[in-house]
Amino acid sequence: MALDADTLFKQLAQSAPAMTIDGQATGGKALQAVINPSTREVLSHAPLASSEDIERAVAAACRAQREWAPRPLEQRREILMALASLLEAHSEELTLINTMECGVPLKVARSVPVTVAYIRALATMDIPREVLEESDTLRVELHRQPLGAVAAVTPWNAPLTLAGAKIASALITGNAVVLKPSPLAPLATLRLGELANEVLPAGLLNVVNGEAAIGQQLSAHPDIAMVSFTGSVAVGKSIMRDASSTLKRLTLELGGNDAAIVLDDVEPAEVGPELARMAFANCGQFCMAIKRIYVARGVYDAVCDALVAAVQEKRVGDALESNTDIGPLQNAAHYQRICGLLEEIPASGGHVLTGGRALDGRGFFVAPTVVTGLAETAPLVSEEQFGPILPVLPIDSPEEGISRANAGRLGLGGSVWSGNPQRAEELARLLEAGTVWVNQHGILDARFPIGGVKESGLGSEYGLAGLQQYTNARVLNINTRRSKG
Ligand code: NAD
Repeated sequence: MALDADTLFKQLAQSAPAMTIDGQATGGKALQAVINPSTREVLSHAPLASSEDIERAVAAACRAQREWAPRPLEQRREILMALASLLEAHSEELTLINTMECGVPLKVARSVPVTVAYIRALATMDIPREVLEESDTLRVELHRQPLGAVAAVTPWNAPLTLAGAKIASALITGNAVVLKPSPLAPLATLRLGELANEVLPAGLLNVVNGEAAIGQQLSAHPDIAMVSFTGSVAVGKSIMRDASSTLKRLTLELGGNDAAIVLDDVEPAEVGPELARMAFANCGQFCMAIKRIYVARGVYDAVCDALVAAVQEKRVGDALESNTDIGPLQNAAHYQRICGLLEEIPASGGHVLTGGRALDGRGFFVAPTVVTGLAETAPLVSEEQFGPILPVLPIDSPEEGISRANAGRLGLGGSVWSGNPQRAEELARLLEAGTVWVNQHGILDARFPIGGVKESGLGSEYGLAGLQQYTNARVLNINTRRSKG
């Protein structure tokens, strides 16, 4: 039977999904309201973990990992494939929950299929055993060993996809997980934990919910071997400090201020809609959204016109409505911050081409905004806005675009757009970012690693490089002369 939003609203209002600790549904020490950003109404009350809950979750993960690691790779893979299929079977429910708590419009919601695809792709990957030397006298092999219990900490903007990737990466490499979503949007992840409990051994995946203190407890915990974190730069630094006492392994996927550089040989009417799509995806709340655009002066006006036309076609509204292209900002504090950035535009010398204001309505809605005339030092240009305000700035040469894109402390992604892909590729190679694209932006695939340079992160997720982060290297070095007799 198809699940409708009204039924789900009623279910969530009555009770949130439980935390899952050691295979048991766990209610937690308290409840916290989860707000629907499209209406500002309370959607549900989610359980919050106590410090004792975290101790139980870590102990369960350590115990389950000892039993899980020796299992043949093929068996681990089969179980992860079963998890992917189970999530796929609950796609409708998970998508609706994700839409209600994160504000991702149903029309563009891809979280569940992407989560399922990521789990399948990562579970299918193999870390080959490397033979470093093989001679008459010596054989040296490099093996990858699991780490133990991994703490996975996720933000509110894409909880399901990030959880799926972290779970698959950790489990296929022989680890166990304690997963903590953001308390601003924990419901889909809690539900994922309940579902996963049907196919995973007890304790292998524990899903807890809580504020910063719970994340800190995990980051400092002596029995947690690794923290796989996705979120802000400030919290990434704090986790690094907390994890230092036990020298934990860390993967930090942090903020970005991705620049798109548009050369003078583009077709403005073609690139405008693409640029707009990747700048306003998830209302700009996407780590690898385009966050500033540098445009060659010769096509500047035409690209601005094309961007404005594309943005004005987008309908902002309740994420559950079928014709909504752009939903709300996810939470009240973030909405206030974005409104503050809008207010600063005139004082920073900016000129609003479209948007520029919060929208009437019950939710945290802001009109998608294109702004010109800002100085490089304006916060909207120099910092990650993580919302639907796009600064567009003219450049006099491609080299100027590269140097302005590379200024600053962040380096997550970047792109170059040109009618001549070879010219664009040469320039893209100069961008200081973990992923650079040509004539596209923000395209992700779990087969290929992502990671930030500078303060955008440490290590990688996805791909072979990402999987290796969840392992220790062990070298086996054998003197084969002795065995020859
Ligand atoms: P955040 O850093 O505030 O919170 C992320 C998670 O960390 C939450 O679960 C939060 O409860 C937890 N946390 C908070 N303080 C903590 C502490 N001291 N120790 C341990 N855990 C703690 O981020 P957010 O506001 O939820 O998400 C937005 C940010 O995430 C943006 O900067 C965005 O760019 C970034 N992000 C990055 C990527 C990427 O792949 N690089 C992907 C998505 C989002």
